[in-house]
Amino acid sequence: MKESQNKLYHTKSLAEHIDCPIDTGHFLKLVKYWGTDLVGIGNVSEGLAKEFRHLPVAVSLAIAHPPLREGVLRRDSVVAYSNQFPLVDERLENIQKRIALFLRSLGRKAFIIPPDTAKQDSSFAAKLFPLFPHKTAATCAGLGWVGKNGLLITREYGARLSWGTVLTDAPLRVSADPYLIGQCNGCSRCVEACPAGAIMGKEWSRENSGEVLVDVEKCAGHLSYHRQVIGKPVCAHCILACPVGKQKKVYRSK
Ligand code: SF4
Ligand code: SF4
Repeated sequence: MKESQNKLYHTKSLAEHIDCPIDTGHFLKLVKYWGTDLVGIGNVSEGLAKEFRHLPVAVSLAIAHPPLREGVLRRDSVVAYSNQFPLVDERLENIQKRIALFLRSLGRKAFIIPPDTAKQDSSFAAKLFPLFPHKTAATCAGLGWVGKNGLLITREYGARLSWGTVLTDAPLRVSADPYLIGQCNGCSRCVEACPAGAIMGKEWSRENSGEVLVDVEKCAGHLSYHRQVIGKPVCAHCILACPVGKQKKVYRSK
């Protein structure tokens, strides 16, 4: 890397180079350089829980998961996919910490919502995590939509990513038009692939974001069956079946 680029990507040097309050383009380049596959800025001021109203801007970031074969589990006739990649989540959390440090160094507030918000964490901050879903940040930043399977779908990687969010009061520019409705259109592969019949087949929209897309009880019942058969409560046929993204060979669960 050239010395000038080195300077650009060093946090402290970048802050010194910023001549407007925060240069959003440089900020996004920096976060990409730190190792994210997708990053965007969304205005999430609408509908924010009162605990977050002072942080109306979301930095949404994601790292793609390893190739599918690394997550596929089989026993007898049962096939499942584990989309839990703790090392990917750890990398993402480290980048989130760097973002927060950077924004705070410019006198801005930053609140990190980590990839796995269900992880055991007794801190006060962790109690706030359920108040803000990654899906809101990513759809507002125009990175992806909520698929019929209830997961974030991106054009680049389908649903095969770990997501993180940093909420801030920094005056960053929104990076793309938000997704207001799903883009699954006529596809229903996840609906057909779900062994529990848990996916309703409805297209998501921000207007009806409270609508139930997946019957969580049916899904949970199937996960517990898989726990008995293959030792882990994982299934994710709804991820394996999704044709969206760069996946060259679409894995077929049936
Ligand atoms: S995880 Fe399995 S059971 Fe649950 S919705 Fe996806 S495909 Fe259906
Ligand atoms: S499989 Fe099809 S319907 Fe399901 S989330 Fe992917 S694109 Fe949407």
